[in-house]
Amino acid sequence: MTALRIGHGYDVHRLTEGRPLILGGVEIPWERGLLGHSDADVLVHAVMDALAGAARLGDIGKLFPDTDPAYAGISSIRLLREVGRLLRERGFSVVNLDATLLAQAPKVGPYRTQMEQNVAEALGLAPEQVNLKATTEEGLGFTGDGSGMAAHAVVLLEKQS
Ligand code: MG
Repeated sequence: MTALRIGHGYDVHRLTEGRPLILGGVEIPWERGLLGHSDADVLVHAVMDALAGAARLGDIGKLFPDTDPAYAGISSIRLLREVGRLLRERGFSVVNLDATLLAQAPKVGPYRTQMEQNVAEALGLAPEQVNLKATTEEGLGFTGDGSGMAAHAVVLLEKQS
């Protein structure tokens, strides 16, 4: 029998000067970057939280505490690879995942294929299993005024029993 499990992830990071902008494991040329303990890849963080939620592993704060110096500046794609390993260990496989970045700027369309490839590769998935997209919030709120970015993700896992 196949059991299906759904997971949702949400994350926010502040934009600041003097940091690289990393989204979906791609460094995007931009005047500011996201602030955080790791590389602050908000999109990958939402994806990891969705995966952790579906597998009932809590959240990424529990898996990779930001008080641990081992994770300072670490690539979130590396952490995603580790989440993938934890899922496989527990017999889960990903059916598909879908995530949305909320950002006023820059346009991430040109980097989308590479971001999807990075996420798929880290989890050992086919590119068709991963969809990443972006929207603005029409100038409203903290994403609209450029003080931060947010991301939502949903994922479906299956487990044979
Ligand atoms: Mg985060």
